[in-house]
Amino acid sequence: MKKITQTGLFIEFCSQFLAFAAVFAAVAVIFSSPALRMTREETARIADSEAVSAKSAPVIVIDAGHGGADGGAVASDGTCEKDINLNIAKNVCAMLSSLGFECVMTREDDVMLGGGSGGSAKMSDLKQRVAVTDGKDCVFVSIHQNKFPQDTCSGTQVYYSKNDPRSEKLAQAVQECVRTYIQPGNTRQIKPAGSEIFVLDRCRVPAILIECGFLSNPAELLKLKDEEYQRKIACAIAASVASYAVSGEAGR
Ligand SMILES: [Zn+2]
Repeated sequence: MKKITQTGLFIEFCSQFLAFAAVFAAVAVIFSSPALRMTREETARIADSEAVSAKSAPVIVIDAGHGGADGGAVASDGTCEKDINLNIAKNVCAMLSSLGFECVMTREDDVMLGGGSGGSAKMSDLKQRVAVTDGKDCVFVSIHQNKFPQDTCSGTQVYYSKNDPRSEKLAQAVQECVRTYIQPGNTRQIKPAGSEIFVLDRCRVPAILIECGFLSNPAELLKLKDEEYQRKIACAIAASVASYAVSGEAGR
């Protein structure tokens, strides 16, 4: 992969995302964020310096939750979580790849991983997803949708792995980015994952899981099914992950 610098990231983010006309407005506001104003200042500092701090960014493992026989949550109209997860994951992968990041998708099709059948199939699938991170300097980003008995619940919720302190910082970046630019009324706070979220419990690398929204909320379901909205969510995830990956936070 090519070396990524703060300068290069800023310039390429702007130019690459011009192609994503539908999310251009979201990108424009993302780049006016306080976090990225810091990037601009950093950019100016780096540009004036001979010692451009090029560094190899971590591999980004993008995990589209569920798949195949495991549809995940199902909305009242039959919409399956697994399909929305994959669409958003593919967008995140395309955006980050266009910036020069090496991305690995745990699945690119409507399949379960790891083989097996019956009750063991799900565990085999989850273990396979975690195994993708083995031996890699990487970040694990899992994409899911939520469902709750009350149809009033809404909003993105980000969980983080307790196994690496960098996970919390990455989760905070995504949660804040979504809140600031897509869901201003979202008051949710990031949460540490317990053993009930297997992939975050087992990952040893920085790892987060994003519940993008609630399929049980009719208004949010309409948005989550909309391809433009899926790209907006993907853009917020990609921008946050990219900013994290080239920051000092990603280093050990
Ligand atoms: Zn899920």
